[in-house]
Amino acid sequence: MSVLLSVYSSTRFLGSCNANCYDGKNPSELHDKNEHFPCSCICGGRNHAVGLTRALKNVAQGVGLSRADLEAYAQYRDLNIDDLLVIDRTRIISDYMARQVAKARLNPVPVGPDDLFYCEALTASDPLATVEGSGGGGQQTPTPAGRPSEVSS
Ligand SMILES: [Zn+2]
Repeated sequence: MSVLLSVYSSTRFLGSCNANCYDGKNPSELHDKNEHFPCSCICGGRNHAVGLTRALKNVAQGVGLSRADLEAYAQYRDLNIDDLLVIDRTRIISDYMARQVAKARLNPVPVGPDDLFYCEALTASDPLATVEGSGGGGQQTPTPAGRPSEVSS
């Protein structure tokens, strides 16, 4: 089964336009002809029941990939469009890769402690303070605490 489009939010996979859609029943058999959304798919119903060949052509022409398509999708599900991403699965075929791309786009790696090359010294309050202090202090003769006087006669 070919997946044509997959929708992800920053936290999860939301759904795909796949054979359930393009091999689905003709919308006229399911809904009134004026029904705007024969399916709640990211394709906006334009791939619905059209068959794989036509659906592939549609996606190549941008069906389901426009901002407007995503807007409708987000609105229908009461989601935040800025938290959504559509992956063109005719280009990124593996589930794994699609997930990785979605993750990278929606959750950019934060620069900071999570970064392997993050350098603690850059943000430490005053890295030189302790070094200077030990210079003036001079001899650190460990004073034996009161032992000598305790020696009895
Ligand atoms: Zn669809």
